[in-house]
Amino acid sequence: SAMRDSRIKKTKTVCTYCGVGCSFDVWTKGREILKVEPQVEAPANGISTCIKGKFGWDFVNSEERLTKPLIREGDSFREAEWDEALNLMAKKFTEIKNEYGPDSLGFITSSKCTNEESYLMQKLARSVIGTNNVDNCSRYCQTPATVGLFRTVGHGGDAGSIKDIAMADLVLIIGSNTAEAHPVLATRVKRAQKLNGQKLIVADLREHEMADRADMFVRPKAGSDLVWISAVTKYIIDQGWADEEFINNKVNGLSEYVDSLEGFTLEYAEKTTGLSKETLIEIATRIHEAKSVCALWAMGVTQHLGGSDTSTAISNLLLITGNYGRPGTGAYPLRGHNNVQGAGDFGSAPDSLPGYQKVYDDAARQKFEQAWGTKLPAEPGINNHDMVEGMHDGTLKALYVKGEEMGLVDSNINHVQAGYEKLDFFVVQDVFFSRTAQFADIVLPASPSFEKEGTFTNTERRIQRLYQVFDPAGDSKPDWQILIEVANRLGAGWTYEHPSEIMAEAASLMPIYSGVSYERLEGYNSLQWPVQPDGTDSPVLYLDGFPFPDGKARLHPVKWSIPVQFGEEYDIHVNNGRLLEHFHEGNLTYKSEGITSKTPGTFLEVSPELAEDRGLKDGTLVRLTSPYGNLKVRCVVTDRVQGKEVYLPMNDQGDAAINLLTSSYADKDTDTPAYKETKAKLEILQSD
Ligand code: SF4
Repeated sequence: SAMRDSRIKKTKTVCTYCGVGCSFDVWTKGREILKVEPQVEAPANGISTCIKGKFGWDFVNSEERLTKPLIREGDSFREAEWDEALNLMAKKFTEIKNEYGPDSLGFITSSKCTNEESYLMQKLARSVIGTNNVDNCSRYCQTPATVGLFRTVGHGGDAGSIKDIAMADLVLIIGSNTAEAHPVLATRVKRAQKLNGQKLIVADLREHEMADRADMFVRPKAGSDLVWISAVTKYIIDQGWADEEFINNKVNGLSEYVDSLEGFTLEYAEKTTGLSKETLIEIATRIHEAKSVCALWAMGVTQHLGGSDTSTAISNLLLITGNYGRPGTGAYPLRGHNNVQGAGDFGSAPDSLPGYQKVYDDAARQKFEQAWGTKLPAEPGINNHDMVEGMHDGTLKALYVKGEEMGLVDSNINHVQAGYEKLDFFVVQDVFFSRTAQFADIVLPASPSFEKEGTFTNTERRIQRLYQVFDPAGDSKPDWQILIEVANRLGAGWTYEHPSEIMAEAASLMPIYSGVSYERLEGYNSLQWPVQPDGTDSPVLYLDGFPFPDGKARLHPVKWSIPVQFGEEYDIHVNNGRLLEHFHEGNLTYKSEGITSKTPGTFLEVSPELAEDRGLKDGTLVRLTSPYGNLKVRCVVTDRVQGKEVYLPMNDQGDAAINLLTSSYADKDTDTPAYKETKAKLEILQSD
């Protein structure tokens, strides 16, 4: 349409909130955001967005934006010019590396930043400093799902596209508050249910919107998902319902896997999960009778001691029933942040180079050594969970955190924050002065997605370009530019002038991205990895087998981990998760008037039974105390939760921050915190 005011412009961008990856045009006039306009050609969302994508942008123009580098002086900070801050940073990094070795430094990138920025962060750690101590916040959410898929089917990503989910006969949602956490994706399921008669089974502790809509809603005991999933799979095998042709042709490891299922009888599952035998048989029967099944899961599965194993169990169930390699089938771990998938793809993990190539694989490492012209460390580094222990035991001396509110979103934050106090040198780079920044020696002002170019990879492995809407505010800079300046002060000699050059280099080193280029991603064009050199992409995975040497998937034996045990006085199980309106800890959404005006403060959902038993009413102020800390919050009585199960949204930034309660226990395979295994005692502070 004709632009009557020449200052009015329209820019295509990709949502910076959740992993659905909605894209849309943003209409602006100067720095004013006029409207967000989704387009039919937007591959993940078409003409839909949720409240965050529609109204969640005025944080970009917030008065509270960081616009200057800050340097600590005693208990406060002073503004500084870039040169001074970056020179100091280079000097300290060099001193610490020389005195204590490269592994005394740690690097954390964010799954909110672009692919190109994650690539540069890990390249800085590995090739400039010489350490594999690099990680990102998918450690806090989806790494267990990635591990479960690598073990069984070979690619750590969703099996198909979001639109394929709508083609399934039956959708299984486990531990995912999909309607609030991935709203536009949930809409597809709701529509398929209405129009195509798709069936929906939901397993969760809390009766959220998708549970209300489900054909079957089951509430297994907290932390027992692996047991019911494995019992259902065993029952399917015992009934002779396994897809023998699929297994014979495409799957290895059946007999060892079947041996591991021996203990998962219906009787055992009934006792352990609280689901009746009849319920388990009904689930098995529904899965057996469906022609195609998709399984969706999120933090309710992954944030446990056995998060990787439960993710594995889900994938095993899909393999046994032949539900991979066709549209409408397969595993869909729902990625949280916009770029959880991309941060992992681009090697921000202590054991993986970009493209999931292992640091200890000599051929892979040498390929990167040759391309980067440096020697690279072959031993895996430490992840962000171990970095906290490293701060406490004195082995980690310096930390560089880019775009992650680790001091609020990691578990057991009293412990994390005490660790920061022990660091010799701490740099935080972010859009706002975060809780984590309070502990820093240097704070660098970064630009959010509206102020830079780059790419994000959404939950369906879809790579999309974002274009720059505004100039960076004040003296802030895009993270990729800051990283180049840091690296070059340490002698790297990087010459990238645009993110497209970073992508070109990365794509030449990552087989799953080999055909990716900015030209192929122009406008609303997108690609789903793996992308062949000629640009052919892969909306549905495993059509021609699985990416293992013999082309066959692998059933992986399962073992259940008993959830974290607490003393008897901690009798309240504190479940936690998102709210529709706020994103995670809310650092961006609380700065957005369009959102804060529509949401109440944080509240604790308590069941009518617990309310009756303890004398709680709407508005009662209570204190929850775990062995790790305590918090204060007001109650709301609701039958969404039952018994001694309570639910606390995770977006509070003050007295009710959930991670004041959570422990340092973690998934045994990935160190993802067991956020969902949190117990507390409850006392009334004030009832009115
Ligand atoms: Fe789409 Fe997620 Fe952004 Fe909402 S938050 S607009 S569902 S990408």
